[in-house]
Amino acid sequence: MRKIVGIAASSGRVAGRCFRVGSRSPSGESAIDPQPGAIQEDLEVQRFSGARLLVKERLSSHLDESPIFAAHLEILDDISHRVIARIKQGPMDALAAVEETVKEICSLFDGIADDYLRSRSDDIVDVGRQLRFALTSNQENPFSPMEENSILITDNLLVSDTLLIDRQKLAGIALREGSKSSHIAILSRDQGIPLVLGLGGSIDAIPDNEMVIIDGDSGEVFIDPEEEMLADLTVRRGEVEVDREPAITRDGTRVEVLANAGSLEEVKEAIARGADGIGLLRTEFIFMRGSDFPDEEQQHAIYLACARACNGKSITLRTLDIGADKQLPYSTIVAGENPLLGIRGIRHSLLYPAIFKIQLRAILRASMVGNLRVMFPMISSIEEYTSAASLLEECKAELRSEGLPFDEKLQAGMMVETPASVILADDFARAVAFFSIGTNDLTQYILAVDRNNPYSEKACDHLHGAILKSLSMVVSASRTHGIDVSVCGEMASDPLATVPLLECGVRKFSVSARRVASIKEQIRRQEI
Ligand code: PEP
Ligand code: MG
Repeated sequence: MRKIVGIAASSGRVAGRCFRVGSRSPSGESAIDPQPGAIQEDLEVQRFSGARLLVKERLSSHLDESPIFAAHLEILDDISHRVIARIKQGPMDALAAVEETVKEICSLFDGIADDYLRSRSDDIVDVGRQLRFALTSNQENPFSPMEENSILITDNLLVSDTLLIDRQKLAGIALREGSKSSHIAILSRDQGIPLVLGLGGSIDAIPDNEMVIIDGDSGEVFIDPEEEMLADLTVRRGEVEVDREPAITRDGTRVEVLANAGSLEEVKEAIARGADGIGLLRTEFIFMRGSDFPDEEQQHAIYLACARACNGKSITLRTLDIGADKQLPYSTIVAGENPLLGIRGIRHSLLYPAIFKIQLRAILRASMVGNLRVMFPMISSIEEYTSAASLLEECKAELRSEGLPFDEKLQAGMMVETPASVILADDFARAVAFFSIGTNDLTQYILAVDRNNPYSEKACDHLHGAILKSLSMVVSASRTHGIDVSVCGEMASDPLATVPLLECGVRKFSVSARRVASIKEQIRRQEI
């Protein structure tokens, strides 16, 4: 038996056979090997033309949303001529021809000092990605050969990958990369999938198909474990902790413990476990289930079902927060050199108001049921908030004129997850109905540390003095202006953070559904 150690990211100790898949990270797309023997020129040109048509249709349908799409259409035309020439010259398969063409054009931009021209190279990479997706979307699901009781071993996973995985067969996950506050870690915790990540090069020591035990509480991975170890194993999956009593501190202060969710199933689970409501519904996880942006009716149906599942308890829907490690394969976002600082959250919604308005209308229509609120992610300026709020007003006016009912008193609030929103908390508190503090991004942006990077895991510390001071500032601004405040980042689910959060004045937590009972217990032990 051998042991390797990574970062413990999602609880549970499980055994299973290793199932390895190639790199899934957006930057780590594997290179395509041209296969001259198997290539039929006409067939490849035909395949490529089909993919080109798909991309063209998608881009054309977004033309009125941003000039970027017109530019992408031009690039598509330019690339297409070159790709077809390359297929014929090779002969080369369509996918390889796209890769080579993009590489060739981008190399012409290398070394150019002009920022604008260099950013054109990002557009070319982006169009190349869209072609690649169109060419490969019918390919086999890489996770489908996975057998019962498998431990998935790979470099990294995108949240959207989890939709391709058969949960019945998955025992746990071990990753080379990733960090505790990455979205794949959050999702695993929410879904109770044991996860060890940040294993680095040591992950290569695991032979394919080998028996392994992973411990998502200690970060250990045991390769070829001894029989007794396997026999002793207590599998924690399926254990359901329920606590429907209110969380009241020893000195009588009521603290609300709500839950985070990313789907209707998770909303139901959280309410069944005794959550006081849903403090954060990550609607982007719902968007990730489809192959295109869901329309108003589809969104309305799911938001309505989520609101109903809360049985009158409050639910806060966050508008689409994509970008960085939450990508939609069908989206035409330009990733840029640093997606964490690029088109994310509200920036995406304001850049594509047509997509945003469909979501706002669906949310408004669902607000007739239950106790629903809406909030905007990644706000960093008052102008961003007021632009989002005025689009919300525009949607209300449309619905009124169409005779469609909605809750006229629907509250709109914002995530506090950028340093600017903390610094301007007093100003924001005058404009919004509530704050929800996203400590995952707040920690990343205040401490200048990538929440997805395993090598800076220790530095990504939500108990850092600067984070605690920020929390106190935001709570104090909310009290001054009499608005509601809660914490929905992973910090709220961390039992070591319960006391510091209470000391900062936080009285509303939104935690992972599986932590509802333990955080309530932790709160009941405290005196404020
Ligand atoms: C956060 O940043 O703390 C948060 C709750 O949002 P997300 O984790 O979805 O970015
Ligand atoms: Mg966030």
